[in-house]
Amino acid sequence: MYCPYCRNSESRVVDSRLTDDGTAIRRRRQCAACGRRFTTAETTSMNVLKRSGVAEPFSRAKVINGVRKACQGRPVTDDDLALLAQEVEEAVRSSGAAEIDAHQVGLAILTPLQQLDEIAYLRFASVYQDFGSLEDFERAIAKLRAERGSVVTGRQRPLGAS
Ligand SMILES: [Zn+2]
Repeated sequence: MYCPYCRNSESRVVDSRLTDDGTAIRRRRQCAACGRRFTTAETTSMNVLKRSGVAEPFSRAKVINGVRKACQGRPVTDDDLALLAQEVEEAVRSSGAAEIDAHQVGLAILTPLQQLDEIAYLRFASVYQDFGSLEDFERAIAKLRAERGSVVTGRQRPLGAS
């Protein structure tokens, strides 16, 4: 962390506190060279940039709300959804970016949702990827069939074992 006044790279932390909303840590630092003080912020939140251009903090609750509708009537529990949201968060955070596109969140939802429930996946994908015809569904189903044999995860349910 460079001093904004003299560009010196050494500073010491004189105060450290969590912001009111708990999403960032603010540190008051003193430059070891010029002695001036400056503030740095460590953000623990990640912004999602929506198509409208508005950025809002990433929220697992929003992921769950977005997926819940596609899961109506399916054997998907709240725990499943919570786990899915966690996987989505881990996937988007692994990019290391402080701001990601809403589209990337949608993409990150598709993979774990496919493993969770194929019908919910199709519903979600049809809205998210804007399916316009039966052929779009056929393509998606063909892709699901093709991937059944290749996608292996620890929590995938045995197919046809109900
Ligand atoms: Zn300085």
